[in-house]
Order: sequence, then C-alpha cells, then structure tokens
Amino acid sequence: MPKPFARTTNLISIYKQLRPFISPYRYMIYGTLFLTFLGALAAQVNPLVLKYTVDEVTELVNLPDPMSEGIHVLVVITAILLGKELANIFIQFGQKFYGEKIRISVSSVLAQTAIDKILRYRIAYFNDENHETGKLQTRIDRGIESLTKLVQNFFIDILPLFSNAIIALIIMYMQNVYVGLVSTVVVPIYFYVSSLQARRLSGVRRTLRNQREQKTSGLLNLIGSIMVIKSFVREKFEGKKQYDLQMQLMDSQLYTRRTSFIYDGLKTFIEQFGVVLIILLTVYLVLDQQMTIGAIMLHIMLFNNVSSPIRQLHRIYDDMNDAFIYAEGYFDILNADEETEPNGTVVDSNIKGTFELKNVDFSYPNGTKALNNVSMRIENGKTTALVGLSGAGKSTVINLLCKFYLPDEGNITLDGIDLNQYENSFLRGDIGLVLQRNHIFQGSIEDNIRYGNMDANFEEIETAARKAYLHDQIMDLPQGYQHDATQLSGGQQQRIAIARLFLKDPPIIFLDEPTASLDAIATEQIKNSLDAIKEGRTVIIISHSLSQILDSDMIYVMKKGHVVENGTHDQLVDMNGTYREIFDASARSLNLDKLVSSYRDNQ
Ligand code: ADP
Repeated sequence: MPKPFARTTNLISIYKQLRPFISPYRYMIYGTLFLTFLGALAAQVNPLVLKYTVDEVTELVNLPDPMSEGIHVLVVITAILLGKELANIFIQFGQKFYGEKIRISVSSVLAQTAIDKILRYRIAYFNDENHETGKLQTRIDRGIESLTKLVQNFFIDILPLFSNAIIALIIMYMQNVYVGLVSTVVVPIYFYVSSLQARRLSGVRRTLRNQREQKTSGLLNLIGSIMVIKSFVREKFEGKKQYDLQMQLMDSQLYTRRTSFIYDGLKTFIEQFGVVLIILLTVYLVLDQQMTIGAIMLHIMLFNNVSSPIRQLHRIYDDMNDAFIYAEGYFDILNADEETEPNGTVVDSNIKGTFELKNVDFSYPNGTKALNNVSMRIENGKTTALVGLSGAGKSTVINLLCKFYLPDEGNITLDGIDLNQYENSFLRGDIGLVLQRNHIFQGSIEDNIRYGNMDANFEEIETAARKAYLHDQIMDLPQGYQHDATQLSGGQQQRIAIARLFLKDPPIIFLDEPTASLDAIATEQIKNSLDAIKEGRTVIIISHSLSQILDSDMIYVMKKGHVVENGTHDQLVDMNGTYREIFDASARSLNLDKLVSSYRDNQ
C-alpha cells in the first residue's frame, strides 16, 4: 500500500512519468528554452553597458572638451539599452506566455487523463478506503497542482534565473578569475542557508495548508449541520472547536513568518557580505591597475544576477518537495492499470437472458464474504424474486450479474456463455437497473430521463414519463421538463429512474427494492409501471414488499450468503421454512388480520 505522505520519488522518476505529458509540447519547449537563453544574455547587458559607460566617462573627463567627445558614448549607450529593452519585451512575453501555455496544457492533460483512467477502473477499486471519493479528488488535485507548479517553476523561475546566474558567473570569470572565485564561494553558503530555511518551513507549510482546509471545511460542515447543532444546543461546543483550530492556524502562521524573517535577514547579510567582498577585491584590483573603475559596478551587478535565483531557492525547493510527495499519489492513481475493468469480446445481438449461477463464492474487497456456494437459474422472460433479510447477499447477486464484480469461485453464464466473455458495455446496455435510490444528475428532468437513451427525442422522453406516471406531475411544475431534477421528491426521482428504464427498453431488468422508500400511492403507481414493463422480459426483483414477489415465477430465499430455499410462493409457504418465517413476520407487521377485517367491513 503506497504511503501517501512518504517521499519515495525523485526528480528523475517524476520527469520520466511526466515526459509523455510534456512531449507533445516539445517544440514549444525548445522555443521557450531558446528565449530563456536570449533572456539570460540580455540580463547581462546592463552591467556591461554600465562598465563601458563608467570607463568611457572616466577617460572623457580627462579630455579638453568632454561634452562634444562624449556624444557618441551617449548615442551608443542609449541605442544599446533601448534596443535591449525592446527585444526584452518580446523575449519576456514569449518566454512567460509559452511557459504558462505549457503549464496550462500539461495541467489539463493531467486532469483529463486521471478522469479517463478512473472511469475505466472496476468498481472494486472504489471500495478501497484509500480510494474514497474525497481522497481521490484531493490526491488528483494536489498531484496536478504540484506537478504543474514544478513545470511552471522550471520554465518561469528555475531555468531563466539559473541560466542568468551561470552566464553572469562565466562573464565574471572571464573578467577576472579571483572575482569569479569569490562569488562562487559565497554561493554554496547562500545555498545552504536557503535549503535550511526550506526544510524548516516545508513541514509547517503543509500543516498550514491542512489547517486552512480544515478551517474551510469546518465552516461548511457547521452550516450543513446547523439544525442538529441548534437542536442539541451545541453552539458553544462547535464555536470552541473552531476557535481551537483558529489558534493552531495562528501559531503556524506566526512560526512561518518568524522563521522566514530570520532566514531572510541572514540571507541578506550573506549576500551583502558577498557584495562587500567583491567591492573590496575589485577596488583593490582597480587600485592595482589590473581593472578599470567600471569593473566595480560590473561585478556588483553581475553578482546580483548570481544571487537572485538563490534568493528564490527556498520557495522552489519547497515546491519541489511538494511535487515529490503529491506526484506519487497522483501517479499511483494513473498507473493502477491492473484495476482496469476486465472486458470480454462477445457481442451477441440476440440476448435472451437466461442466467445461471453455479457454486458462486464471492467476497468484497474488504474481505466481507457475501456469497457462499450460490447456485440459481434466472429464466429468460420470467420474473425471479430474491428474498431474504438485509445483508443476505441479494444485491450482491445483482452486482455480479452486472459484472460490477467478478466471482471468486464458481461461474456465471448468460445464455450458456460465460459472463466474463461478454463485452461490458454490450452486456450493461441490455440490462436495466432500478435501485432503491437512483442517482439523479444535476440538470433538467428531460436530461435526466434522456440518460436512459442519449439518442431519444423529446416525444420519446414524454412517452417514457407517461408510462412512469410522471408526466402529469411534471406538467404541474413551472418549468415542466426543464425543472431541476434534483429538487424533485424521492418518489418523483424514483419515477425518473423508471422512465429511464422505459427509454432504455432493455431485455433484462434488475429491480433492487424499487419502492422501498415510497409512500403507498407512489408504490402502487410504480408497481403498475413495473408490471407493464416486466412483460416478456427477464426480471429479477428484490423486495421486502410481499405484493411484488407473490406472483413471481420463481423465488430464491437467501440467508447469510446462502440460497436456502427456492420455489413459487405457494411451494415456499408450504415448506414452512425461512420464507414462511419472513412471510409471517411481514403479515404480522402489516397487522394483516385487522387490515383484512376492516377492508371486508368497508366493502
Ligand atoms: P442484501 O442486498 O441482501 O441486503 P448485500 O448483497 O447488499 O445484502 O450485502 C451482503 C453482504 O455484503 C453484507 O454483509 C454487506 O455488509 C456486504 N457488502 C455489501 N456491499 C459491500 C461493499 N461494497 N463492500 C463491502 N461489503 C459489502
């Protein structure tokens, strides 16, 4: 199991994994690199021009008519400086814009790749506690954020600043080896202090971010649970929790600031110490007539070019550390190819719908054993009911028949062919699934029903809604079919699921407690809709409502993952076993005797 916060990656492995994502942009990258090189050259123009100016002016003031002689110096300086600035506008623009373009493009490719991959993973992947929705989202977001920051840092900070520093150093060495040496000696000290600063701050920065997130989500949770808080009179308790969080956040913020200020001060001192050394050395060399006066300015400015990237080092170092940590989590998600849903190739356009389970064993990925040596036959064109207490394994059977999970032992066939050999999209295209609660997507009623068949036109959607007893209710809404579907009641949402089923029109239908959360009237209407659609199709129904299972062609009774009885309602009642127990309990809970007598009295 990968540890989410362990640093086990390095820059090379990140680069290797990132390469496929950046290689489509390689020409843009080469262009950006070239512009970076030009930019680094341009950054040395000012120091060189200043040296030239000082040296020329020093000579000119000794001449009899410095003004007239100096004109050509002014012209040269103006031309070079303005020319450089003009060129710089384009260089900087190109370099920054294309650097950003690479970053934004890489970031969107990374995001889309993660989504495409995740959509192909099997359901078991999402059962893992490490892959809960929130965790996956955070890991993907943080991974992409830190990777793109790395790319951005590289093109916008690291590369320009460091090429600038290297060229400045080369010029210093070319001018005078000793000056070059002095600046080179200061660099590692500066480096060391910067990395100390980064190390001191990196842990805190992460804590700070977590605390900020906690604070934000804390407020959201607070608002979300405001009714519970008020009903239990827990305002003070919740307020104190937030206050404690705020205090922790404040401590971390102050610590970060204090550390930063101390190290920044230290770094400024070291930098200035370098400047002093360079002034001393260059002044000595000037007095010794090995250098001209202009060289003093030149070297101070060049030294600034050398030290400025290192000033940013702690931030870059920190971002890189983040990338090491978060990139791993992101690439783990991306590289879980073994989690891709297994798929078959059979596309039999004439599916009848006879399922046969033979000695099927199945445990969920967390180890819960849900099915034990289960054998059953689901006849095509008939209605089969699965009955049993909660947790008996009924829904699990449906999960396996949809190929959401694969059995551990035994096998399942559909029309005599191993279920594994069917192509998933083809198989699922032939199955209509209605659950106790069905997912309603953000959007209109029309779009939600259309999910059953993306090619359906409006008339077909309306017909499906009529069959699901939903049309009249929709007409009462101000915006009709354009009404926001998530605002509908539970019963109405259930009808949307049934309308989807009508629209999909599949030969096989699995109903998993489709009316469990509905009132009596809605239950009756939905039962009518379902009875209409059940005609001539293979249906499996799971229900606690006797009315929906009484007339099934075959009933399988499940208990703790086993099939314990099977037969028709009458046969099972006669058996006096588990089914009878459940049946009697249901009758008692309905207070059937009283119901029947008052029903008779009123007839
Ligand atoms: P039923 O539909 O009969 O109520 P299920 O098939 O949903 O029962 O569940 C059978 C057993 O499998 C139960 O013990 C349940 O807790 C467990 N189970 C169901 N879904 C999962 C899952 N996604 N991960 C782990 N265990 C599960």
